[in-house]
Parts: sequence; structure tokens; C-alpha cells
Amino acid sequence: MERIAIFPGSFDPFTVGHESIVNRALPLFDKVIIAIGLNSEKNQFFTLEKRLRWIKSAFKNNPKIEVETFNGLTVEYCKEKKANFILRGLRTAADFEYERAIAQINKKMEHDIESVFLLTTPEHTMINSTIVRDIIRHNGDASQFLPIIDDEDAYKI
Ligand code: ADP
Repeated sequence: MERIAIFPGSFDPFTVGHESIVNRALPLFDKVIIAIGLNSEKNQFFTLEKRLRWIKSAFKNNPKIEVETFNGLTVEYCKEKKANFILRGLRTAADFEYERAIAQINKKMEHDIESVFLLTTPEHTMINSTIVRDIIRHNGDASQFLPIIDDEDAYKI
């Protein structure tokens, strides 16, 4: 059976921290699906269309990576994609507490789906999408925190 992992998130925007998690997960899985969740509680900064295009552009030469959007529960989406793994990144103890609850609830709902966590590398620990958004909103240069992509509109609001 193919080992398929879903990497769900809002990715608003997708940072080099996210990119690093995906690259490090590649040897573990046959396929990684980066899935942008349509989370109604979070107001989006970048449109879904831009986030999708930019993430696709960051991984355009990698056939093991797919980029999609999804609605609803992550475990339901996993079943639809025949994915047995949910990939998440951990930066801090706060991330751990938040992720622990979600992973344990997901496991209760779908016993066959395992959550897999990769600890962030030290140089990416401080990167989060909220801060990167603030830099961009105030016309700062956030390029060192974002994947290099070939897109005229890259990271423009
Ligand atoms: P969500 O809204 O689901 O938290 P995010 O886009 O903020 O979505 O994050 C998606 C996943 O990536 C989460 O598991 C988060 O902990 C992880 N992540 C975010 N930033 C980093 C980073 N700098 N290094 C490693 N993992 C990260």
C-alpha cells in the first residue's frame, strides 16, 4: 500500500518552515499532499488561489508532492485521498499542546490514521505565518522566510 501523508494547514502564507517540514518528510512517504484547509474561523490574508499557486510553484519539480484544498474534517479528507498519515510540524511546547489534542481526537475518530510530527529545525523555530504576514502588510522584506518561487505576483497582497 502506498504511504500517503496529508500536510494540512492554512499556509497563509506557506513559509520556509513549512517547506522544510515537507522536504524532510519526503523520504518517509511515497506521496505528500499539502492540503490548504478552508477554515472558516480564520480570516485569510492571501487568497486561496494565490496560496495554491505559490505552493505549487515551490514544489513544481517534485512528482511526489501534490497541492490541494479541502473543506471539512481532516480525517474525512484523508479517507477520500486514501492517506493513512497526517503530517504536522512542531516548533514549541505550545504547538505540542495544541497538536496533541487534535491528534488524539483524530485518532479516536479514525484509528487507522496516524499523526506524524517532525520537530522544526532550530533555524525555523521562530518563523510563523502571522509574523511573516505582518512584515508583508507593512511593506517589509520577508523574502528570507518564504520559499523562492518563479511567479511575477510572488507574495504580493
Ligand atoms: P494551522 O492553521 O493548521 O495551524 P499553519 O499553516 O499555521 O496551519 O501550520 C501548518 C503546520 O505547519 C502546523 O503543524 C504548524 O505547527 C507547522 N508549522 C508552522 N510553521 C512552522 C515552522 N516554522 N517550522 C515547522 N513547522 C511549522
